[in-house]
Amino acid sequence: MRFRSILGQSSSVSFREALFHGLAPDGSLYIPESIPLLKAQPADRGITHRFPDIATEVLSAFIDDLPTEEIHSIAERAFSFPIPLVKLEQNLFLLELFHGPTLAFKDIGARFMARALSYFLEREERDLTIAVATSGDTGSAVAHGFFNVPNISVFVFYPSGKISRLQEQQMTTLGGNIHAVEVEGTFDDCQHLVKRALGDRDLVLARNLTTANSINLGRLLPQVTYYFWATHLLQQAIGSAGQPGTGSVVSVPSGNFGNLTASVYSKRMGAPITRFISASNANEVVPEYFKTGIFRPRPSLQTFSNAMDVGNPSNFARLQALYGDNLHEMQREIAAVSVTDGETLDEMRRTYQQSGYVLDPHTAVGVAASRKSQSSGSPSKPTVVVATAHPAKFPEVVARALNTTIPVPHQLEDALQRPKHSIQIPADYMRVRELLLS
Ligand SMILES: *Cc1c(COP(=O)(O)O)cnc(C)c1O
Repeated sequence: MRFRSILGQSSSVSFREALFHGLAPDGSLYIPESIPLLKAQPADRGITHRFPDIATEVLSAFIDDLPTEEIHSIAERAFSFPIPLVKLEQNLFLLELFHGPTLAFKDIGARFMARALSYFLEREERDLTIAVATSGDTGSAVAHGFFNVPNISVFVFYPSGKISRLQEQQMTTLGGNIHAVEVEGTFDDCQHLVKRALGDRDLVLARNLTTANSINLGRLLPQVTYYFWATHLLQQAIGSAGQPGTGSVVSVPSGNFGNLTASVYSKRMGAPITRFISASNANEVVPEYFKTGIFRPRPSLQTFSNAMDVGNPSNFARLQALYGDNLHEMQREIAAVSVTDGETLDEMRRTYQQSGYVLDPHTAVGVAASRKSQSSGSPSKPTVVVATAHPAKFPEVVARALNTTIPVPHQLEDALQRPKHSIQIPADYMRVRELLLS
């Protein structure tokens, strides 16, 4: 499989090149030249019921410069935690993607990407610098995914004071090859600074610089895999009571729209999904685009679901490419719903009262959106909401919504104990350049 740039002004590349460069030379994102069709779902053929096996099959369809055995070995090591499907109520399920080391779904992409890079670097005897902008969860997932990976230094740029204390502790306390950079500005400033660095040829050459944002295919492709896993688990959960052949609805809490893009890839590859719900918080650039046909990026607003506070979603161009830039086609498969902070808290309360389940604010946006898109308030088709983070990462919001606290999982306890180390800078590109060259 080759990958082409969306603008089409750069030549197509292999997975290895897309992995190392992140962005195409023409400044646009890489997308698969075509979407491979899996003839039957791996699990349906009775071959396997393990996530790393299913993931290997899906990833091998895209990646041909890593041997299949190597993909399998990486999948076993990277996806070494459970990904359960939990029934919340009739027709409403959560795919818990948050059992990795940083308790958020981004572990899945980051851990695969780190190990894939490391495979190539080891053979090529080279060093690499990674710059990544984060609105919270990316930074910790990348920091942990790459921590102590030989030949790689990581610079994580995050907006000062705009992420939760737990998120901050998770990426500022590792040390070693992980450098946390605290920017006086917003997430969009961070993203802008990293984009500019990646477009700075001298810097890129001097430091062998790339990124690990969700624009990198090395993170995006592994996210396709868990939608096959979800539909497999859903079929098991519904059993013969479900009507075979009818697909499920998937609701994706979205910020940069990588996760939603990955879910649409999985449908094109043959996963039995009929419709998507694109769930946004008050940063409603995409829901507005669905309503008006006008895509109007703007500065992000701060909400309780802060990992989704994105005013200019970088993966949306990939989604548009999938639908041939045709909004009408997109609307046939995707409902774009926005959810306010008030509705997010209401959903956390409602779910807690009904099922005793504590939703994190991001997942709550996904659940609320799936209710809002159904007039009855509860889904009439089997619906899988992607549960993107563990609620323990957002104790302030949980306390505010539910007036309760939840135990801190061991992954977080460690990070809370250690001292914070960060480099503070203004949102000034020259400082970024200096820092990366120092
Ligand atoms: C990053 C993130 C999202 C948004 O995912 P995108 O792929 O950027 O749309 C949602 N929830 C959580 C917890 C996240 O960390």
